[in-house]
Amino acid sequence: NPKLSNRINKMATSATLAMAAKARELREEGKDIIGLSLGEPDFTIPEFVKKAAIEAVNNDFHSYTPVDGYGDLKQAIITKFNRDNGLTYKPSQIVVSTGAKQSLYNLAQVLLNEGDEVLLPAPYWVSYSDISKVAGGVPKEIRTSIENDFKITAEELKAAITPKTKMIIYSSPCNPSGSVYSKKELRSLADVLVNYPDIIVVSDEIYEHINFTGKHVSMASFEDMYDRTVVVNGVSKAYSMTGWRIGYIGAPEWIARACNKMQGQVTSGANCIAQQATITALSNPPSKIQYMIDAFKNRRKLILGLLSDIEGFKTNEPEGAFYVFPDISFFFGKTLRGKHINTASDFSLYLLEEANVATVTGEAFGDPNCIRISYAASEDNIKEAIQRIKKAVSN
Ligand code: PLP
Repeated sequence: NPKLSNRINKMATSATLAMAAKARELREEGKDIIGLSLGEPDFTIPEFVKKAAIEAVNNDFHSYTPVDGYGDLKQAIITKFNRDNGLTYKPSQIVVSTGAKQSLYNLAQVLLNEGDEVLLPAPYWVSYSDISKVAGGVPKEIRTSIENDFKITAEELKAAITPKTKMIIYSSPCNPSGSVYSKKELRSLADVLVNYPDIIVVSDEIYEHINFTGKHVSMASFEDMYDRTVVVNGVSKAYSMTGWRIGYIGAPEWIARACNKMQGQVTSGANCIAQQATITALSNPPSKIQYMIDAFKNRRKLILGLLSDIEGFKTNEPEGAFYVFPDISFFFGKTLRGKHINTASDFSLYLLEEANVATVTGEAFGDPNCIRISYAASEDNIKEAIQRIKKAVSN
């Protein structure tokens, strides 16, 4: 609509949310859709977190909070960073926001000027690109391959840097590929970045606990990167608190201050009850949520086994998060049940219509050969969904 701003007209709709809406629509029409499109744990909120939220209501928490979060929540975040990541922050370096999505939005708004380049190792989480663009930034994808486990190398990083590079954003464990950068791999990227002190690193660690290989490492834990790395984290994934909308950053003080200023004009701060519940969530040891990680690990094994049985699905072994990101380019140029498949979007749509299974096209994540399948679903649903997919693609 030309009456709308150029800003919103240029923005893409979130592909994951669009797919979820489409699946909902089809369900309302009576179709039995299995949704494997959303990055949303199917667990309920841990009891101890629920209890804290109920107590907060009963204790009359209702007022505006400090813009950047309650002092005791910031303290709990500081303790968490120290306990899990070996990172030391002062309260002035922490900002709590309405989901990690807002944390990322704030960062783009306060750091990017028109034309600044943002490096995005692809595949990347859908929103990085549009969050950068709406702030005037220019996303620069760094392509990876399934052969290299969808990770960039130091050489690829170096080749992508220009005098306009302002920022790099990545997630590890990665949504959508599930890849996890090892300490050695991160160090090799840091060795490139130390030569470009003006580039800010935005390290999205929201899947930190959903890691099946070993210890999570943060780029900020390298002494020579700490001063220009912003760690983004939140409780949506590990604590199954997606709808509670709490994310946070640990950042150099000048960046945290700017995010606080931005947020003060936009949301005034995150929901007070959810902040109270997050204090309890983060103050408890991660062992309390291990049961969910174990379940994800079993489901990963299940889905990889089932997919390996379908011709045309090429997968790497994801080491974290709860997605598989198969390369399905085998089907391009083929016709399935009378439908021509030329792109990953065609394929994802085909699966929705013919198998009643919702996935997301890799195009949204900067990889046109793949689709993303979330296994944050029950084992029964995973089995049924993959069986349906198998039937729909085997002629
Ligand atoms: N970062 C990544 C990599 C994600 O996958 C998501 C959610 O899908 C987010 C950030 C946003 O999380 P939140 O629910 O805290 O806004």
